[in-house]
Amino acid sequence: MNLAMRKGIYTALTALACAWTAMTSAQALTEQELVTLDTLKQTSLSSDLSYNIIESLTTEVGNRMMGTPGDAKSIVWAVDKMKSLGFDKVWTEEVTKAQWIRGEVSASIVSPYPQKMVAIALGGSVGTGEKGIEAEVVHFENLAALKEAEKGSLDGKIAFVSYRMERHIDGHGYGKAVGTRVTGAAVAAEKGAIALIMRSVGTDDNRIAHTGIMRYKDGVKKIPAAALSNPDADLLVNQLKRGKAVTVALNMSSEIQSDVQVKSANVVGEFTGSELPEQIVSLGAHLDSWDVGTGALDDGLGIGMVMAAAHHIGQLPERPKRTIRVILFAAEEVGLLGAKKYVELHKDNMSNHVIGAEWDFGLGPIYKMSVGVGAESLNAMREFAQLITPLGVALAPKNKARAQSDMGALSDAGMPSVNFSPDGSRYFDYHHTENDTFDKINPADLKQNTAVYTMFAYFTAQANTDFRK
Ligand code: ZN
Ligand code: ZN
Repeated sequence: MNLAMRKGIYTALTALACAWTAMTSAQALTEQELVTLDTLKQTSLSSDLSYNIIESLTTEVGNRMMGTPGDAKSIVWAVDKMKSLGFDKVWTEEVTKAQWIRGEVSASIVSPYPQKMVAIALGGSVGTGEKGIEAEVVHFENLAALKEAEKGSLDGKIAFVSYRMERHIDGHGYGKAVGTRVTGAAVAAEKGAIALIMRSVGTDDNRIAHTGIMRYKDGVKKIPAAALSNPDADLLVNQLKRGKAVTVALNMSSEIQSDVQVKSANVVGEFTGSELPEQIVSLGAHLDSWDVGTGALDDGLGIGMVMAAAHHIGQLPERPKRTIRVILFAAEEVGLLGAKKYVELHKDNMSNHVIGAEWDFGLGPIYKMSVGVGAESLNAMREFAQLITPLGVALAPKNKARAQSDMGALSDAGMPSVNFSPDGSRYFDYHHTENDTFDKINPADLKQNTAVYTMFAYFTAQANTDFRK
């Protein structure tokens, strides 16, 4: 054997050894498990299950704000659905809250050019009283401008914030716009305003207004708060441009009933792990919605996806090593009550929540995965990222993701987390409106979404990895 031959053999052996090391130590799944993963991918890409679950929820239940008959119905629906999908265990976890009644709303410009406007009460707002409110409007371009107003400068007036939400693929325009909805009434009241009206937090041009939660501040007067549809906010801005005083009439019969407690519940179901049943991979979505539309996108989409993902894995001849738990959180919209309750009930077992992800945003294909795991297990997540690359998903460079929405409470309690980002460009056209209905779901995108979640759940339930390390 000459030197060149010996060198050649040495190189080949080294390459083989490296490949072997990669297979035995670095690879999170065995070859057989990778075959199973591919089967699950094909199953979810060809199945209509997640679509049919959303159809069932939106048709048989409809919208489901906490404390409404729809909410109660959705809990029964979810328990039955999980049982029929073969979940090993299903249970509920109760939450309570003071009742809020939406009531009716009417808003109109009284002068200088009388016109009706389309408005909706913000969630948790007080009403105007039977007589309603009629007052001059003071216009602010955004929340920062409202905050700068002098104390007393809005005495007896209606504050109007016209900030328009920007459209972005990752939905970050929402964060910039939602502050007015959440805190605007308290800020306006501190300046003396008797009501807040605002442009809807939404990217559409429909004459439909967007609701969503608002909060009062202790020690500050509770004033009524409503959102106008985008075209009506434009109309009001145009009247204000004429330089004359603009008067608006607002009548809202919304009511906070502090002495009436309403109940709801998380619905939790799982496929119990075969080797490490105490270790939990969590898939989350929220069961409640606002009392408009049918809650198809927010968050019916997430519900369909996580239930279907768990079911597909549950159909395998044997359960994966770890438990796959689906948590349908209660009362997300009205203050993440279900998530807080879940963490409280499971605080002693939080260290067994090995990883989790929630779906509560977007309606297009997933294009990005962000992870928040231990430094060592990042290698496993890179392997997983390669497996979903053919589905159009790229791994974000930073390793510090906090799970979105409800599941953020579990991240804060130490659970390693993953976020999947779908194209959210159109999500806020429909979000929290009468237009959040089943027809907006794109079956092809949903199949991709479900495939990614199914693969994520199987991979993390089976991987030879501690995601905290
Ligand atoms: Zn949501
Ligand atoms: Zn929502």
